[in-house]
Amino acid sequence: MAENSKIGWTDHTHNFWWGCHKVSEECKFCYISGIMKRGGYTPFAGPMRTKNWDKPRRWNRKAEQDGTRLRIFTCSMSDFFHEGADLWRGDAWKVIKECSQLDWLILTKRPERVLAHLPQDWSDGYPNVWLGVTAGCADSFSRLDVLKSIPARIKFLSAEPLLEPLDLSPYLPSLDWVITGCERAKKGQRRLMELDWVRDIDDQCRRAKVPHFFKQYYKNDSGIPCEDGYLDDLVRQSWPMAAA
Ligand code: SF4
Repeated sequence: MAENSKIGWTDHTHNFWWGCHKVSEECKFCYISGIMKRGGYTPFAGPMRTKNWDKPRRWNRKAEQDGTRLRIFTCSMSDFFHEGADLWRGDAWKVIKECSQLDWLILTKRPERVLAHLPQDWSDGYPNVWLGVTAGCADSFSRLDVLKSIPARIKFLSAEPLLEPLDLSPYLPSLDWVITGCERAKKGQRRLMELDWVRDIDDQCRRAKVPHFFKQYYKNDSGIPCEDGYLDDLVRQSWPMAAA
């Protein structure tokens, strides 16, 4: 995996395991498929443990030396709470806790598995873990209900791929951050996103005083992205208050 991610809201990605199974509409054109096939793997056959677990320790040491913090998107090529990784997750939690200079952004589509798979000393959440769920369509809102019941220092929603207009008003009071973005699948497979849907979510977030991070937008199916984060000539890329 690349050390420095192209994802605007993270500094690095780290995969304790990779490989997955599709669980909902947002997964339809999941980007791991092409990457895994090119590496000679079967993409949706479940997770395999990776061998690069020392990398976060190196980032952590560097962040300590520099007196900074780094955001790590955790399991970008899988789901941290996938049932196929239950045997390895305990070791992953140890690395996450040890690397306290890193902020681990764990985004899941399986929040119903979270409570039973938190470390024993989780309490009201590790200070360096941001916990999020994906909901790009209203059919996935039940994930936000589950997230409400889980203790975490920072809770977020990723509405990417954004597949339809969303009324987030019942959920915004329990969220610290909202991400939006269009589908990043290859040309011909992208479900196009309307900018008005993003404008509406931006307005909802502003009214609820929840930071909104608009990640990217394809104007059409040409494969040419607009400048990331611009909405009506203004960058809409805000961060959770605790992380500002
Ligand atoms: S949960 Fe994430 S990694 Fe897994 S299939 Fe769905 S989009 Fe892909």
